[in-house]
Amino acid sequence: MSQTGVIQKIAGPAVIADQMMGTRMYDIVRVGRERLVGEIIRLDRDTAFIQVYEDTSGLRVGEPVETTGLPLSVELGPGMLNGIYDGIQRPLDRILEESGSFIGRGIEVSPLDRQRKWAFTPRVRPGDRVHGSGVLGTVPEFQFTHKILVPPTVSGVVAKIAPEGEYTIDETICELEDGTELRLAHFWPVRQARPVTRRMDPSLPFLTGMRILDCLFPLVMGGAAAIPGPFGSGKTVTQQSIAKYGNADIVVYVGCGERGNEMTDVLVEFPELEDPKTGGPLMHRTILIANTSNMPVAAREASVYTGVTLAEYFRDQGYSVSMMADSTSRWAEALREISSRLEEMPAEEGYPPYLGARLAAFYERSGVVRTLAGENGAISVIGAVSPAGGDMSEPVTQATLRITGAFWRLDAALSRRRHFPAINWNGSYSLFTQILDGWYREHVAPDFPELRGRLSGLLAQEAALQEVVQLVGPDALQDQERLIIEVGRMLRQDFLQQNGFDPVDASSSMDKNYGLMRMMLRFYDTAAAALRSGATIDDILASPVIERIGRARYVAEEEFPAYRDAVLAELDQPFAVRA
Ligand code: ADP
Ligand code: ADP
Ligand code: MG
Repeated sequence: MSQTGVIQKIAGPAVIADQMMGTRMYDIVRVGRERLVGEIIRLDRDTAFIQVYEDTSGLRVGEPVETTGLPLSVELGPGMLNGIYDGIQRPLDRILEESGSFIGRGIEVSPLDRQRKWAFTPRVRPGDRVHGSGVLGTVPEFQFTHKILVPPTVSGVVAKIAPEGEYTIDETICELEDGTELRLAHFWPVRQARPVTRRMDPSLPFLTGMRILDCLFPLVMGGAAAIPGPFGSGKTVTQQSIAKYGNADIVVYVGCGERGNEMTDVLVEFPELEDPKTGGPLMHRTILIANTSNMPVAAREASVYTGVTLAEYFRDQGYSVSMMADSTSRWAEALREISSRLEEMPAEEGYPPYLGARLAAFYERSGVVRTLAGENGAISVIGAVSPAGGDMSEPVTQATLRITGAFWRLDAALSRRRHFPAINWNGSYSLFTQILDGWYREHVAPDFPELRGRLSGLLAQEAALQEVVQLVGPDALQDQERLIIEVGRMLRQDFLQQNGFDPVDASSSMDKNYGLMRMMLRFYDTAAAALRSGATIDDILASPVIERIGRARYVAEEEFPAYRDAVLAELDQPFAVRA
């Protein structure tokens, strides 16, 4: 018989119950006569502090609380791609009324379709020894090969394996000699990282298709990056672009809406995104976890762990997964609200003292791993932060900064000037640049790091000269300095800027990026030489090659090499000096 307790207090999403002896931290409980889903988040002798994943209105003191003895878990198997879930993996279309308001109180909905049959092809035979995360077989899911995994804690010798055929997720497809029966799906608790053989040092880039990121502030595959930025600076557009063009096989996108209808926008926009790899919908290799503002806050708190557990499941199949969380500030507010309802002692700005630990518990599940089955897999995490008033010293931004290795700072001043992506090249950084230098030298060009260094140097020089111009006006500058201002403009407008909505410009390969860098730096060298041999800055500014460089980013990848070579050849000629 299951243990029961009694409700003593109800405060919004938080419930305090006593007579809960025998229960454990993080047990899932059924709260009240309506059997609402809750989770024990603190235990004090036989008093349990419970966060409830559903609307608690109507709940009364004295109603029963029953423990299930199980932690919050997700069900992992085919049928999740193209799915839209709430923070505890309930399919959104099943728990929302047509009006978009929340119904499902106490209802049990399956995260996966239990009727659907999947075409299974076995990969093991009777007598084979299998281990956790080993592959029993595959099923096709859209264009994706979904590997059916042995649950991480199971191992043994195959007694029976289902022949090629169609099966539901509830049918047994494999039986081990000890009698264990395995299905196409299995459960895993979300607050516990799935085990791996070992974590590896990342050495490959997670290319995003965004020039400023891939060239100046790169992310490693398996790394974590933060995108802090005020409202309207481009966090959501940047994350959607990375979801679309980033080099991952699977995308997990956790949305916590900033305003009432923002999540609704994402729910409308995401299904319309096209996958550049297949031409089909991006959703066919994406899972969306949506927290609309009318959903209970506890589900928002759980959603990042649910998301990263789904990501780990695909990683364990040997794939590269990208995970976006937008915005973790809204997630942290959920944490703060529950903590304050439980009357916990607050730390900075009302957030609980364990804010940093909880954020880390999520980000630290990114990484490159050798799976239990000996495959490689990676999870790269990109989290948006929205500090109020752009104040980077607030607790969520500071805690995030300590955990993530790349910091892509979005700037309201840039977005006001319509400089997109509005990533501030002076306020951003990446700790992965040096790790990746070897890869860039080998796969892009032997001198790539040097070119990047020159480019950053010119941007810094231009910023310093702009300050001089602000103070004393442009006439105070020498021609060589005015050239740096011109090259700075070129780098900002024709290299760093990238139009996320232009079919060609939205994503740029490293070959193209390197070509653009060469053009702009060669322009600088040729123009500087011309100035030294008597040309004036006006001669240089009149050159038609400037406009050709400006158009280069809109030249399609296939035509780009020829275009680049023509521009570089033109730059080998000295600038015409006007009589
Ligand atoms: P594949 O299966 O693509 O032929 P692997 O099995 O070596 O290649 O790797 C699978 C995935 O693991 C890669 O797509 C990548 O996401 C990740 N990975 C492997 N090695 C590394 C590494 N050194 N640094 C970062 N990610 C890696
Ligand atoms: P945030 O999520 O930070 O509130 P959004 O991502 O919604 O901001 O961006 C706000 C607006 O800025 C977008 O609707 C779009 O018009 C513009 N924008 C942002 N990034 C880009 C980009 N890379 N290219 C073009 N426009 C952009
Ligand atoms: Mg946004």
